[in-house]
Formats: sequence, structure tokens, C-alpha cells
Amino acid sequence: MPVIALTPSWNAEAQRVSVPYTYVAAVLQAGGAPFVIPPSENDSAVCAALDRADGLILTGGDDVDPSVYGEEKLTCCGETTPVRDRLEQTLIRHALKRGIPVLGICRGIQILNAVLGGTLYQDIAEQFGTQLKHPRSDIPIGDAHTVRIEKGSLLYSIFNAEECPVNSRHHQGLKSIAPGMRISAWAPDGLPEAIEAEDGRPVLGVQWHPEGLIERLPLQLSLFRWIVQEAQK
Ligand code: MN
Repeated sequence: MPVIALTPSWNAEAQRVSVPYTYVAAVLQAGGAPFVIPPSENDSAVCAALDRADGLILTGGDDVDPSVYGEEKLTCCGETTPVRDRLEQTLIRHALKRGIPVLGICRGIQILNAVLGGTLYQDIAEQFGTQLKHPRSDIPIGDAHTVRIEKGSLLYSIFNAEECPVNSRHHQGLKSIAPGMRISAWAPDGLPEAIEAEDGRPVLGVQWHPEGLIERLPLQLSLFRWIVQEAQK
């Protein structure tokens, strides 16, 4: 059974890691065995843990600290967790080096893009200027907007659809795309909603939360099926 590593959020005050159970349930439903890698200052321990995994899922959470993409933190940026940034930076680099498949979700697509050399809007409303409201935490599993999926992309091969409705719980977004990655889905306002490796490596990020949509939109389970399948290769 392929083992899928999940990254947790980190609460420094409570000294506690946590993962929403929807991610665990989605991996199980897709046929994978989930486990969580906690942050630590010991990068070797983090890499050794990932070596036991066949796939990596970067879960949602706090904002990525702008220092990761070489920018000053503005007041419009939300709360950041440098301890978690460091964990995911180490995991992403090690996964790519070892050819471990990666799926980034919400914050996950953002840290993936930032670590690979892209940048983020610290706040979409402030810096992107869109009529579309992306942080729709009021409807966490409802249809917030549609995405247009690029034909011929890896994402298209997973969904076999040119358009699908998604939820949207992000106030930050992808600004410049990291070298080696390409956009595979767009929001109606032109904001990138998915990226993937240009060279066909199994590296994919989505801006929405598929784990929260599976019950209503079973198509979203295919993202988890994809990483479990890639993890078996
Ligand atoms: Mn969105």
C-alpha cells in the first residue's frame, strides 16, 4: 500500500501539530496509507521520514512567509509560520531530488511555487485587483467559482474536463510562476488555480480544497487517486 506523507499545521503556543481529517480520509479513500511528518530543526530527520513515503501532500494552512520568495512582509499578509515553511521547504526539495510525487493543496500550491522560485500576491484583493472574491471561507465546501483547465495538461488528464466548479479559501495567490512549472487551471479572473511540472514529473498544485469536495463532487477524489497511483510507480 503506497504511503502518503501529509504536512501538518503548527501551533507554536500549544506546541501542537494538526491535520484536518478530511485529508486523511481522502488518502484512505484513494487507497493510500497516510502519515504525518511534524516540523523539526533536524532536516535529516525530516528527509529520513520522507524516504519512508511514496508520495507527499502539502496541506492547507497559514500564509507562506514572504521571506521564502524574497519579499518584505506587508500588513496585508496574514499570519505566517516560519517553522512550517522550513519543514515544507526541506520536504519539497528532497521530494524533487528523490522523484517522490508531490500534490500541493491551497497553501501547498503556494509554498510549492515559492520554494521553486515563484512569487505570491500577499493579498489578492490588495495586489491583484479582482472583482472575484477568492477567500470564501463562508462557503468552505460550496462552489465559489469555476476553473478552466488547460487542455493537454496533466490536470486535464486527471479530470478529463475543461471546466469544473471549486471552493476557494485563499486570500493569497500565485503571482509569478516558478521556472519549470506551468499553469494548468485558471479562475475566471485570470488568477492561476493550478500548476504542474513542465517536464512531466509528478508535481502538481491546486489552489482549491479537493479534500472538502469529495462527497459532493466525486471527481475531486481523482487528485488523490492520481498521487496514490504515481506513488506506486
Ligand atoms: Mn480561488
